[in-house]
Amino acid sequence: GKGWKMAQPFRVLMVSAEAEPYVKVGGLGDVAGSLPKALLKLPKDVLEGNSLDVRLVLPFHPVIAREVAAQEPLVVVQVPKREGTVEARIYLSEIAGYPVYLIDGEPISRASTVYSLDSAQDADKYIFFSLAVLEMIQALGWKPHVLHAHDWHTAIAVYELARRRDQDDFYRGIKSLFTIHNLPYMGAGAEKVLPEYAIPPSEDIRLPWWGKSLPLPMALSTADFLSTVSPTYSREMLTSEFGCGLEDFLRSRSSTLFGILNGLDTQIWNPQEDSFILRKFSAENPRDRLPNKQALLDQLGLVPEEEAPLLGLIGRFDRQKGIDLAIGALRMMAEQPWQAVLLGSGDPVLEESARNLEREFPERVRVVIKFDLRLSHQIYAGADMLLMPSRYEPCGLAQLIAMRYGCIPVARATGGLRDTISDLPDPSMSTGFLFNEATPEALAEALRRAIVAYEDSTGWEMRQRNAMQQDFSWSRSAQEYYRLYRLLWL
Ligand code: ADP
Repeated sequence: GKGWKMAQPFRVLMVSAEAEPYVKVGGLGDVAGSLPKALLKLPKDVLEGNSLDVRLVLPFHPVIAREVAAQEPLVVVQVPKREGTVEARIYLSEIAGYPVYLIDGEPISRASTVYSLDSAQDADKYIFFSLAVLEMIQALGWKPHVLHAHDWHTAIAVYELARRRDQDDFYRGIKSLFTIHNLPYMGAGAEKVLPEYAIPPSEDIRLPWWGKSLPLPMALSTADFLSTVSPTYSREMLTSEFGCGLEDFLRSRSSTLFGILNGLDTQIWNPQEDSFILRKFSAENPRDRLPNKQALLDQLGLVPEEEAPLLGLIGRFDRQKGIDLAIGALRMMAEQPWQAVLLGSGDPVLEESARNLEREFPERVRVVIKFDLRLSHQIYAGADMLLMPSRYEPCGLAQLIAMRYGCIPVARATGGLRDTISDLPDPSMSTGFLFNEATPEALAEALRRAIVAYEDSTGWEMRQRNAMQQDFSWSRSAQEYYRLYRLLWL
């Protein structure tokens, strides 16, 4: 296409509650940490000769080591409140290889965890943070072309930017992109805090009444572009099943709503270099996984069964992840050959029903209730299949890791699972098995198909090779985000 060359570097400010390597609680931390790095590595031809100046801003959470930043603040700004102001100190950190700003202040330093159960305290913290970001760029005199904000914690930066653009020359022309990682979390608890910061409710008549003073919908109505983390989820959001009551509103914005898949950190997740696993392997020799399977069974105290595929499940024990569907399906399949290992924790009811399954099938099932990074690597490298029967899945990381490790996903055809797994009759075109209904029966049906396919070792190896060769790198995602930034400026 036509070149699009700017005189100056194209400036992007990433705004997030968490990011690797500073602080990571969930998938958002992966994205906000990996995307800036991947953007800065984009080749010149993709950038049409432009250069990028990408910076990141995070709250200086007490869990972040003070040594990552300079001792003295770079700038100190005042965040306006209805009565008085609150001081925000901005520290510069460069350990990530590009500028990262860490914002400190009373609402941030008094909270011991990144997210808390006290919703009013979280609202105060993140509204303060969002407003401090806007003060910061003005104090630095660094005007981004695009402010790219993630999830409800940063929503008020987008909302307030839209107001200031009309009133203040510094903010005029700054475009915004708001990315949804977790739609159900909208910032409840903010209703009472917003007036304290003199933020008026939204007047957008397209929003439901309850959304007018909730951060996430407030950003959805004022961001120039919206995105979420897979194309399928961007469409599912427009339905009542997935839209959390915002489906009608989101439909009104569908021409400015995009879906971009997350990437995978292929350095961390690399079966050729993985030091947690017994035998390293590559797409050329998926059979080399066998010692990993044997070691895993051994470690779990399961006796290897010749014909039985080993099924793995790794994830938060939450209704979202369909753990109950997996347990139900396995129980229905007592006649089939399989062994299974379930790793995760969360909802005590689901934990207990997983333990019950283990009691019913002591020779076939192991349940490990904890967070165990090493064991997760060993399961990806040793299990034959990964169960992922999610009720909804904006993108999903576990299936990407599994495919890269030749562990074939059996997953519900929803969100990012549907976009990343291909289930076709020809094994050389397939990377996994998909099912539609969120029921144990539908999962069991897909599992039966997978077990039949597993018996054909040539076809299975084709599937594994194909899965392992998929490109889920961040550079692909970064390229798509760059295109979106560019579209904002066309
Ligand atoms: P979500 O972000 O919704 O929890 P994802 O599939 O996107 O789900 O990411 C989950 C990540 O967390 C994966 O990397 C998975 O391996 C890891 N994980 C989840 N539970 C555990 C656990 N109990 N032990 C080790 N790793 C886990």
